Amino acid sequence: MDMSTVARLPLWIGGRAVPARTTRYGEVTNPATGEVLRHVPFATTEDVDAAVAAAVAAFPAWKAAPALRRARVLMRFRELLEMHKKDLARLVSQEHGKTVADAEGSITRGIEVVEFATGIAHLLKGEFSDSVGSDVDSFSLRQPVGVCAGITPFNFPAMVPMWMFPVAIACGNTFILKPSERDPSMSLKMAELAKHAGLPDGVLNVVHGDKEAVDAILRHPDIKAVSFVGSTPIARYIYETGTAHGKRVQALGGAKNHAVVLPDADLDFATEALIGAGYGSAGERCMAVSVVVAVGEAGDVLRDKLAERARRIVVGPGDHAESEMGPVITCAARDRIVGLIDRGVAEGATLVVDGRKAHIAGHESGFFVGPTLFDRTTPDMAIYREEIFGPVLVIVRSDSLEEAIALINANPYANGAALFTRSGFAARRFQQQVEVGMIGINVPIPVPMAFYSFGGWRNSLFGDLHVHGMDGVRFYTRGKAVTTRWPDDGSAAPGFHLPTLG
Ligand code: NAD
Repeated sequence: MDMSTVARLPLWIGGRAVPARTTRYGEVTNPATGEVLRHVPFATTEDVDAAVAAAVAAFPAWKAAPALRRARVLMRFRELLEMHKKDLARLVSQEHGKTVADAEGSITRGIEVVEFATGIAHLLKGEFSDSVGSDVDSFSLRQPVGVCAGITPFNFPAMVPMWMFPVAIACGNTFILKPSERDPSMSLKMAELAKHAGLPDGVLNVVHGDKEAVDAILRHPDIKAVSFVGSTPIARYIYETGTAHGKRVQALGGAKNHAVVLPDADLDFATEALIGAGYGSAGERCMAVSVVVAVGEAGDVLRDKLAERARRIVVGPGDHAESEMGPVITCAARDRIVGLIDRGVAEGATLVVDGRKAHIAGHESGFFVGPTLFDRTTPDMAIYREEIFGPVLVIVRSDSLEEAIALINANPYANGAALFTRSGFAARRFQQQVEVGMIGINVPIPVPMAFYSFGGWRNSLFGDLHVHGMDGVRFYTRGKAVTTRWPDDGSAAPGFHLPTLG
């Protein structure tokens, strides 16, 4: 690796780019070509300490700023994101591999959270009760928690950080973002744009790195809250370590999202929806559909339609306009996905469409896996049990809606689930009985809008509160109840019993 010709990314601390104090660096590659684009520093504990010091210093003034002033910074930030959206989408596509159009959509979903956060003056309004006792009033308010941190995955380098920091800083907190080391550039761009929008130095800081930086965040006494999105084993570790160090933690983990298709569904509509949800972004979405539960006679027809459509997906580099699906993130990810496809074959599932030998002319060093479809998958197979996080869709056959619901509820993951049907009765039963955080009815990727909250159940989320929406506001604030009395006659009598205010 020639360290001299490839740029080293800085950290962003106290409103400016600063070099890391580390000797450890990782490679950021273009997944479509295998080319090393830049080197990312793996920050040390001292780097994290410097970022926390900047965030601690910025907190009192930012907390004291009126909510409307904080909101106006976010309004300008929103405008800058819109203005630079195309370039930002190209950057996301270059480091992640997803198509530019898909990257642009993910930035829009992030911008929607910024838009939600611009309403913070309204969102922070408390309750007021007049005369809870004689001449006694009560009100509630919510205050920021202090320095917050966000640790984010590779698959949404713009959107997932924007699930977190816009809400956190709108509430009056300061923030440290530790993005994925695989596609780290977008976070620096967002920090730069936030500064141009008028965000005071130290309110938003970016620290790149791996476990060393994450552990420094989890143990730092001045960090009060940690938001995490990533795989389940790391989510569990973040939750257990962060809470053991006295922090509030929300840790979103992996997923195995099922889409149930009933025989009465519009199967052409369902096919198109499942193709987009299964293979979009090469299946590297936490809300990707990875299991199709085909009920009764829907099975054979659906398999044939999915296979025909999957074979027509245009696979190519994310920056080619005709590409519908790009490469996966790394060479190791490709090898792991191909290994799981091999296991599916060995364990007896029917391989209907085989993406193992994807060949993209001129991109022989890219990390491509073609769309892959299995039928006759059973719950004991690795391709059903494991989160593949690649363009692999598996069909499980089921005899009834009840059996399909039981299958979903027995799965350790519980992020999203969808149902395709024309029956309102079946839809209502599904949405009531499925024990999963986000439900779609004829909607394959039911990602809630910014003004609702996003999160799963069971192994898909450790913690109590989901991200963005009102759960986000609650996570990044603490409640306080104030009880007031303004006596003017100077009379005072000791009260030895628990006051009842009557
Ligand atoms: P990952 O768990 O490998 O990494 C996530 C973050 O944790 C990164 O910032 C990484 O640097 C850090 N990290 C990795 N290993 C660590 C360790 N040993 N100790 C401390 N920190 C560590 O996840 P990923 O591969 O970047 O992203 C894909 C995963 O994220 C999938 O499982 C996907 O389902 C999940 N995801 C979930 C959601 C959701 O909303 N539930 C959203 C997006 C992605």
